[in-house]
Order: sequence, then structure tokens, then C-alpha cells
Amino acid sequence: MKRLKFIPPIVIHPTLWFSLVVSILTGTIMEFILVFSIVLLHESGHFVAAKCFGWKIRKVMLWMFGGVMETENYSNRPIYQELIITLAGPIQHIGIFFLLYGLDASATLSPSLIQFAYTYNWTIFIFNLLPIFPLDGGKLLFAGLSYLRPFRQAHASMIVISVTITVIILGIMFYHQETALSTYLLFAFILWENRLEWKQRFYTFIRFLLNRQLLWKKKKRRLPLIVPASTKLIDVFGQFYREQQHDIYLKNGMKVTDEQACLYMYFNLKQYQATVADVCRKS
Ligand SMILES: [Zn+2]
Repeated sequence: MKRLKFIPPIVIHPTLWFSLVVSILTGTIMEFILVFSIVLLHESGHFVAAKCFGWKIRKVMLWMFGGVMETENYSNRPIYQELIITLAGPIQHIGIFFLLYGLDASATLSPSLIQFAYTYNWTIFIFNLLPIFPLDGGKLLFAGLSYLRPFRQAHASMIVISVTITVIILGIMFYHQETALSTYLLFAFILWENRLEWKQRFYTFIRFLLNRQLLWKKKKRRLPLIVPASTKLIDVFGQFYREQQHDIYLKNGMKVTDEQACLYMYFNLKQYQATVADVCRKS
């Protein structure tokens, strides 16, 4: 089937299918439609903002509390674009609030449904802003950490913070004898996602380096890196900041090379064990 070029493939997460089945069985299909619409509007905020910046979207996955937009451009576009695209989702909830207000005033939906939608709308809004990966708050956290730490450390710190906060929330829920199984499942799913992200963090790091090399752009800010000659290239890359350009100096203060030469040696010449001293000898 031919798909409209503008619209990305939309994947429905099992939790959403599950709630559809539950809503059919319990006769709450209207509630489901409201949830689905809110989630869809949230995600369309991210999507439209991403399109405005010309990002390539691989797919959009919708789940109960929002969605995850998979793109080829995370971490290789300016951080401010990422911030705007990430915020464009939660901002939708303010629009949805006024939409519900209009529906309420026109008495299109029953008061109980409107009340349900209001509650769900603010719940998703607040939930998505928790500083936990893969929620929007987690992405904002990552963007903030990327200014303060090198990419590799920022990424690892984001996962550690996400897991810590999730465990604290689960602890508080347990302490208060919270009984909503779906909330436990939700946080279990988040922990699972963080586990996967942790496992593939080296791949994420390599993708960041490859994109940095392929889509090379001069950066306004420069941060010299001073390293011993015996430093392996992969360890030098571990000190790369997202929005900084790096010249590499040896400990004696002489500039020896730049990041492009190191990346070329690593990826094009496939010298995975090479050191800074090897790059100096070649150039
Ligand atoms: Zn979102």
C-alpha cells in the first residue's frame, strides 16, 4: 500500500492495543478514543516541529502515555532544535486543554467524559516532563547534560539518573501501597527501555561519532583537548562535546592534530587501536 510521503509509519505499542481490548471489554471505548486523540495530538506536536527543521523521521510509536518519535537526527543537530522539538509535544496539552474547554462549553461530550479527558490530559503532560528516558523530560535532561558533559558521559549519566528516579518513584508508590498495576507496569516498561539503552550505549556513541564525521560542520565553540600521546582514539572521542570543536594537543602543549584527522584514522582507515601518537605520525 502506498503511504502518504509526509506521514511517517505509525506503530501502536502493545500497551495501547491492550488498553483498546480492555476498553472494548469494559465498554469504555469513548475514553479510549479520547486517550488516543490526546496521545496523537501530543506526538503531532513533536512531528510538525521536527519537520519544520527538516528532520528525517523513521517512525512514530504511540503508547499509553505519549509516544516515541524515532529519527535519524538525534544528537547530530543543534541542541536548541532538539529542545524545541521535545517541548513541542508537552505544549500540545495546553492547546488540548482549551479544546476540551470548548467541548465542555458546547456540551458535545458528557461531563464525566470531559472530566476524564481533563485529568488524562494533565497527567500525560506532567508524566512526560519527568526527567526519565525515554520520556520528553528525559530528552530535556540529556540536552541539558550535553552542554555540561562530553556526549558519552552525558548519555550514560542520563540513563543512570533515569533509572534512579524511576526506582525512587517505584519505592514511593510501594511505600504508599499504590495498587494501580498499570502504573507499576508503566515504570517497569521504562526500566526495560533504560536497560536496552544502557546495553546499546556504545552503539549510540559510535553513531554520534559517525554522524559527526559524515555531517561535518565547523562549530563556533572550540575546546582544546590535552592528552598524553599514548591515548587511544576511542578515549579521545569519549571527551567530545556535542557542540564544541576539538583540537588535540599533547601534554607538552604543542597542537598536534584535530578531531577530523582522528575520526578519519578510526573510521576510514579502520585503525581502531590507534593512539594520538599514531595520528601524528601519519599526518
Ligand atoms: Zn513527547
